[in-house]
Amino acid sequence: MKVEALETIVVELPRRSAYGWRSLEDSIGRYVILKLTTDTGVTGLGEAPAILSWGGEHGRYFGEDPQIVRYLIDEVLSPLLIGADPRSARSLLARMDEIARGFPYTKAMIESALLDIVARDANVPLHQLLGGAMRWQIPICHSVGLAEPEEAAAEAAQVVADGLRWMQVKVGGDPARDTEVLRAIRRAVGDDVELYPDVNRGYRDVKTAIMAIKAMQEAAAICAIEQPVEGIEAMASVAAGVDIPVIVDEGCWSPQDALEIVSRRAADIVSIYYTKASGLLRSMEIGAIAKAAGLPMNVNGSLEAGVGNAANLHLAAALDGAVMPAVITINTLEGREQTRVGGVFYTDDIITDPFAYADGCLTVPDGPGLGVELDPDKIEKYRVK
Ligand SMILES: [Mg+2]
Repeated sequence: MKVEALETIVVELPRRSAYGWRSLEDSIGRYVILKLTTDTGVTGLGEAPAILSWGGEHGRYFGEDPQIVRYLIDEVLSPLLIGADPRSARSLLARMDEIARGFPYTKAMIESALLDIVARDANVPLHQLLGGAMRWQIPICHSVGLAEPEEAAAEAAQVVADGLRWMQVKVGGDPARDTEVLRAIRRAVGDDVELYPDVNRGYRDVKTAIMAIKAMQEAAAICAIEQPVEGIEAMASVAAGVDIPVIVDEGCWSPQDALEIVSRRAADIVSIYYTKASGLLRSMEIGAIAKAAGLPMNVNGSLEAGVGNAANLHLAAALDGAVMPAVITINTLEGREQTRVGGVFYTDDIITDPFAYADGCLTVPDGPGLGVELDPDKIEKYRVK
């Protein structure tokens, strides 16, 4: 079996609202879809939810955008991919790492398409290539974007009405204002919802972070704090200075990052993206390190469209360890809405069927491969290039 044809499509999905986080400069939803087709007629799909202003701590990882992804595929990596056997995904990825350093979102997209082909060819769901499903229902944590307190509280109330019990809340790094946002949300949702702020590295130093976290614990009973500061030393100091778990996101992209975090005690929970890790296989390696260290983990992402979110769901199904609610999209098709606000970042999508949603959880797809198909009409509608 050989890859015979390759196609990239850039789509832009209609957004539900002006969602954002501290340091986000691009707008979400303008992503690359990859189709790889074999000489046996099997097509595999991948998605790069590439964002130029999203990267690692202190410039350790760079942003990617649709044009960078396209350049890498068309000009750099296509000679390796055309004629390659998708069943050798791991060695192809190793070779890609030699040809082009970095660019994990591009590589994750390629790996997804390769594994999708292999799983479709074997007529099994993709998670079986990762060892099989540990769970079939994935609890979803909604992400409330940066907003004024009243606006954030109104959104949070609707999320609870949609049946979700977990919320990540984007805050900007101004302790007084962040506390007001969390207080307003707690007032709106009651005591029975888990809330945690994501500061996206926003506090200017360790002591400011510790004071802000304590104020938000007092005002809103937050259950954790995500990436309060930048850098492994600062993260370790915050983790030692507070009594709630610290989640690492920007600080953990690779298995090597995870090892360093464990050995420096720089976080209590590891946030895993199939994209940051250059794919699902390395995401599983990060999961193995977290489990071995006794750290819980969650699947988080860049608000994927339907193809990328299928990868998220297979990953969340297959990870072994203490897996917390996933901060991922509930992909919504126009006219077939399952939630109004909870998990909804786009009002339409490019897949033919939504993932099944009930009681705050998405069901892991059980069709062959990723278990999603592209809707050709929606591709035409949302294609920008
Ligand atoms: Mg985050």
